[in-house]
Order: sequence, then C-alpha cells, then structure tokens
Amino acid sequence: MVNQRALSICLASAELAPLAKTGGLADVCSALAAWLHRTGHDVRVLIPRYSRIDESGIAIEPVKELADMRLRLGSREQTFAIDRATLPGTDLPIYLLRCPEFYHRPGIYTQDDDEHLRFLLLQRAAIEMCQRMKFAPDIFHCHDWQTSLIPLYLRSTYAWDKLFAKTRTVLTIHNIGYQGMFPAYVLPELQLTGAEHHLHQDDLKNGVINFLKTGVMYADLITTVSPTYSREILGDDYGMGLNHLLRARVDSVVGILNGVDYDEWNPETDPLIPQNYTPANIRGKVTCKKALMREMGLEYAKQRPLAGLISRLVGQKGIDLIQNVVPTLLRSRDFALVVLGSGEPRYENFFSELQRHFPGRVCYYRGFSNKLAHWIEAGSDIFLMPSLYEPCGLNQMYSLKYGTVPIVRETGGLADSVQQIDPDKKSGTGILFRDYNEAGLAWAMNMALDLYDRRPLWRKIVANGMAMDYSWERQGGRYVELFRQLSNEQ
Ligand code: ADP
Repeated sequence: MVNQRALSICLASAELAPLAKTGGLADVCSALAAWLHRTGHDVRVLIPRYSRIDESGIAIEPVKELADMRLRLGSREQTFAIDRATLPGTDLPIYLLRCPEFYHRPGIYTQDDDEHLRFLLLQRAAIEMCQRMKFAPDIFHCHDWQTSLIPLYLRSTYAWDKLFAKTRTVLTIHNIGYQGMFPAYVLPELQLTGAEHHLHQDDLKNGVINFLKTGVMYADLITTVSPTYSREILGDDYGMGLNHLLRARVDSVVGILNGVDYDEWNPETDPLIPQNYTPANIRGKVTCKKALMREMGLEYAKQRPLAGLISRLVGQKGIDLIQNVVPTLLRSRDFALVVLGSGEPRYENFFSELQRHFPGRVCYYRGFSNKLAHWIEAGSDIFLMPSLYEPCGLNQMYSLKYGTVPIVRETGGLADSVQQIDPDKKSGTGILFRDYNEAGLAWAMNMALDLYDRRPLWRKIVANGMAMDYSWERQGGRYVELFRQLSNEQ
C-alpha cells in the first residue's frame, strides 16, 4: 500500500521567480514549490536575499529562531539571519537568507573571488535552517551546482544529526554546462572536516573542486528537466565531462519535463499583454502583434510574419546559427524580427548591427524585461529557439500556449515538447531541425515562412499548439511519485 501522507521537502535554490531570476531555474523552482504547497505538502524554500530583489509589496518578517545565525567558513566566521515572506502571487511561504556581505552585489551570480562562499553559505544555511526549525525533510531538493554539495554535507558534516536520518536527496540538473568549478585551495572553507576524501580525488589532484560533480556522486536521485536531455547527458557530446559518472549511476538518473506556470503564461488571462485571446477566438493576437510592432518601431504589414527571440545571448542558444542565416534570409524573404536578451558582447553587437541594417524590420532590446517577454510571446507569429543544447527550455512551451509557432532544434526538452508539422495531415505544433548547422536552420525558417502563407493550415498548426498541456499538474505529479518512492525505499 502506497503511503499517501504529505511529504516534507526542503528546496534550496539560487533563483526563484519572480524575485530572483536569470532563467528557467527560477520559473521551475517557484512553480514546482507552489504546486507542491498547493497540493498539501510541507515545502520550505530557501533563497538568498539579494539586494536586487524588488521587495516592494512583500511583507518580510524576521524569524525568531532564525536570527543571529553563524557559520564557520574556513578561517572566517560568517553571521547571517533568515527571514520569512510569502512568494508574490501565491501563498507559498519562503525563506530569505540575509547576509548583505554576500548578496548585496549587482547580480545574482558574480565573478568575484568569494563566489563559492556565497553558495556554500546558502547550502549550509538550508541545512541549519532545518535544524533550528526541527524540520526533518523527507526530501532535500537541490538545484544545479549552487546547492549540489548538500547531499555530501548530509552524509558527512551533518551525519551526526538524527533529524536527517530519513532524509533523501534529489539533485535536479537544469543545465550541466554550469558546474561550479573552484580551485582546490578553497577546500578548508568547505568545512568538510574529516570527509575531504569524499570529494573527487582526481579533480583534487588536478587542483579543482567541482560542486555539480560532487552532487552527481552523492545525491540519492538525479533528475534533469526533460527525458531526452537525461539520455543526452550520458554521452560525450552533452555530458560536459560528467557523462561517465552519470552512466555509472544510470538507474538513478530520471528526466522529467518542466511544467509551465499557466497562471502566469496564458493569453486568456495574461494581464501584461495588450489584449487577451483564446484558442476559440484569437483575433486579440493580431492586436498584440500590431501593438508590439508599433512599440518596437517595426513596420506592420498583413502578410508579414513576425519572428521573436527571447534568450540569454550565449553560445548554447544557437545564436551563431542565427548570425549566419538570418541576415541573408532578411534580404530574400519578407518577415520581421524582434529580439530580447543580453549576454555575450559579440551577440549583442550583432543584433544591434542587424537592427541598424534593417530598420523597421529588426528590433533588438538589450536587457531583461518580463513584460516585453510576454508581449513577444503574444505578438509574434514564429518563435526561434535553434539551441545547440537545451535541457528543457520554457519559451517554446510558452509559445505553443500563445499560438506562436516554434522553430526549434531537435534536442533536449525542445524535442520532447514540440511535434514536427506534417502539412498533409495538418498535424504537429512546430518545426524541428536535426543537425546543428546553417542549412538546418535555413530549411526550418523557410518552411515556416512558406507555411505562414497557407493561412488555413497555419491556423490549424496554431490551434494544435494552443491545445497542448504542459501544466505543473501533470509534471509535478512525477516529482511526487519519485519523492515517495525514495522515501519509501528506506
Ligand atoms: P534558460 O534557463 O537556459 O535561460 P529557459 O528557456 O529554460 O532558458 O528559460 C528562460 C526563461 O527566462 C524564460 O522564462 C524566458 O522568458 C526568460 N528570459 C530569458 N531572457 C530574458 C530577457 N532578456 N527578458 C525577460 N525574460 C527573459
């Protein structure tokens, strides 16, 4: 008989939407935690109280038993406190790690010398928070390298504490490209007294400590954010050096596609877009397109499709392909392009130049804007995501909901969430290209532009996409199943 009692879960993360976000990690942690809380589980979420968090409208209260905390990090003693609040738009209680010395910096992540300490503190504070609250989690849910030492800490530095006797650890890898690698001389600051031998010894000999790798070695279960990515990272091309370790633990590696928070990303109810619309009546989408193009200085024409791109501008996202394909295509075909994102200067410069060369047809907004992201999802006809690799990707799923046809490379979560269009059967939701090269992207974009001219077919494809359901109601259940299996295995 399956035990159906509510689970106790401690979730520690560097990001949580909408408070602190650079990418999908933030969306996933907040939506998953809010869903778990809504369905009756006891979830305690801890994130750093970054100075860039917009605290207006949030009631943040100190917690008596979590004030005046201190931890030894090598030769320094670090003082901190943990405050409580409610995640905006939900009734999920959250905990904020207050340590201005570490978290009052311009960004969530830094290149500073003490970057490892900023996230060592987060991880140990999460454990010590549980101790002070006498909260015995069934599951410690860790996310990416910033919290992936927790499994080892629970087996070593904190192994004495019976509070965690039944705690099992789950490490979710959102992106294996970021591993948190630091020089081995930071070892004393980890405070792994007597347990240093648990670290990867070859790495130590080579002068490196790899946080994510340590998590892969010691988490009871490793999940990643799509079934395809969970297979890809076992191989040389995508495993980024962790593939051998992952292969050795293949029975403990599971892929669960991320869910979408349809409370935030739904054209029927979205308060940020110029006009709401539904699958049954999508006229409002044209209003959104006109408003977006006007706002961005693009020339609207009835037959001119608008392609959108929202992305961190880094190599992973396939911007190289766009560089090599889009300028030529803009000369030969009639479409407009709106780009939102920031990142590597070479890509930012490329889009600025593209805008200069194609006034009225290309607009680039450099920076981060949640409102513009919503406008682009609603106002575009086509969405570009030609990623080199993509653990899950969220924007393609948002696009489907907003009736914006995604062009994606067949990798990771993109392959798991977009179905290839078959014009004869009028089936499918988007266009996938297999090989990461210019010919692939050019083929896909030409196909989209051709299909756009076949309006009844296009409308059917749009309707197919809008009917897809990637809600957390579906995906969250998979996590709960796994959490239950883990905690019943004991
Ligand atoms: P990743 O986590 O690799 O950046 P995802 O597709 O999983 O990619 O998630 C990206 C999330 O970040 C989406 O919610 C997307 O809308 C958002 N996003 C990315 N760049 C920007 C930006 N410049 N402005 C607003 N939102 C952005």
